[in-house]
Amino acid sequence: MIDFELEPQVLNQLKMYHMVSEQMMRPISRDCDEHEHQKPTQFYDSMWAASAAASNIQIGHDKSKKDEPSKPSAPRRATVLTVLSTEELCWGDAGLYLSTPNPGLGGAAVMAAGTPEQKEHFLKRFKEGKPKWGAMAITEPSFGSDSSAVATTATRDGDNWVLDGNKIFVTAGQMSAEKSEGFVVVWATVDKSAGRAGIKPFVVEHNTPGMTVTRVENKLGIRASDTAAITFDNCRIPLDSILGSAEVRKEGGFKDVMATFDATRPIVAAMALGVGRAALDFVRDFLKQENVAIRYGISPRRLTAVERDFMEMEAQLQAARLLTWRAAWMLDTGKRNSLEASMAKAKAGLAVTLITQKAVELLGPLGYSRKILVEKWMRDAKINDIFEGTQQINMIIIARRILNYSSKELN
Ligand SMILES: Cc1cc2nc3c(=O)[nH]c(=O)nc-3n(C[C@H](O)[C@H](O)[C@H](O)COP(=O)(O)OP(=O)(O)OC[C@H]3O[C@@H](n4cnc5c(N)ncnc54)[C@H](O)[C@@H]3O)c2cc1C
Repeated sequence: MIDFELEPQVLNQLKMYHMVSEQMMRPISRDCDEHEHQKPTQFYDSMWAASAAASNIQIGHDKSKKDEPSKPSAPRRATVLTVLSTEELCWGDAGLYLSTPNPGLGGAAVMAAGTPEQKEHFLKRFKEGKPKWGAMAITEPSFGSDSSAVATTATRDGDNWVLDGNKIFVTAGQMSAEKSEGFVVVWATVDKSAGRAGIKPFVVEHNTPGMTVTRVENKLGIRASDTAAITFDNCRIPLDSILGSAEVRKEGGFKDVMATFDATRPIVAAMALGVGRAALDFVRDFLKQENVAIRYGISPRRLTAVERDFMEMEAQLQAARLLTWRAAWMLDTGKRNSLEASMAKAKAGLAVTLITQKAVELLGPLGYSRKILVEKWMRDAKINDIFEGTQQINMIIIARRILNYSSKELN
């Protein structure tokens, strides 16, 4: 049973996140956008203190808890709460949200693929105030969408794994790799001849010799967040750095990649919701100031073009939100959500792109100007169609699941 009612306690928390967005993110939003690689350290410090206190912010899902009997009085809802807080914080600034100290996508990979001991270890460390950032590195110069093409190698050498290869476009990669007590989860193959089955995740601690940040990207949007290229050259890590088992089983490792995406796609969809809502709220206030009323409930034939556009924006956002909540709720209740996670991600990417472009359009020259943040939100929006599986890749996954085709039959 899906319950849409949010308890007073959750609503209060959301109010707190809204305050963070309004009072801590928005005031530095433009400056961080203009100066991409300048780090807002004061913001990080405050957010670190705040996120350490807010224990329910989590990215990822503990699969090992799936078989626990559900207690109606205390439903597990970590992902739903994360989705709600993510929307609220990305209403403030999506780039700053991605730079907020937390285990991030790296944490999601630990939750999806780690042993109970590894999860305990990393969560405990997080609760104790370390590591500050987590990143996940799958993409390489030779592939992005086809994540089964991982070429980075992990070779066993005595009591170590040795990583060699190049990763690109790692969100929060620089902060996780070198600037803090962070970690990067690196997907590498332990046996190239095994194909997908040989792909495994490894935790590499910050400042490990052999791990080097070689570039930080200049981007169109989410410019407050660092996106790094990282090279692994004879990078030695302890044997227990592999998440889960080292045994090569059919589809074993790759399933963990997919499980990670099942956990992260609803969160990315929620990021899109936050940006879309920011633009929608701005347009609503603007129209109010201009004395343009949105007349709900009248015949569609009598609507003005502006009313029709605005209602369409609202409907798109709400449709994406409902899909996102469903995907998150399924994860929390131990249901397989690959289809729904891709639906949420694909819909939210489309919705936020449409909403922010319409917002610029409706505001005219003001929308296009840097006096306000709407043009920035339009740039921030597009990443939702690219990372965590592009729009097209998620559409293919949806089609495969609905039509019951394998990845070989439909690609
Ligand atoms: C800002 C940013 C942050 C990122 N963060 C991370 C991160 O933290 N970790 C990480 O590992 N990666 C990250 N990425 C990488 C991102 O996930 C990839 O860029 C993405 O998966 C697309 O891969 P690609 O760049 O190789 O594009 P390609 O796979 O070459 O795709 C190019 C275009 O072709 C389309 N396409 C590809 N295959 C098909 C197909 N079969 N059918 C139809 N269309 C297709 C795609 O949809 C896309 O439009 C990030 C990227 C960016 C830009």
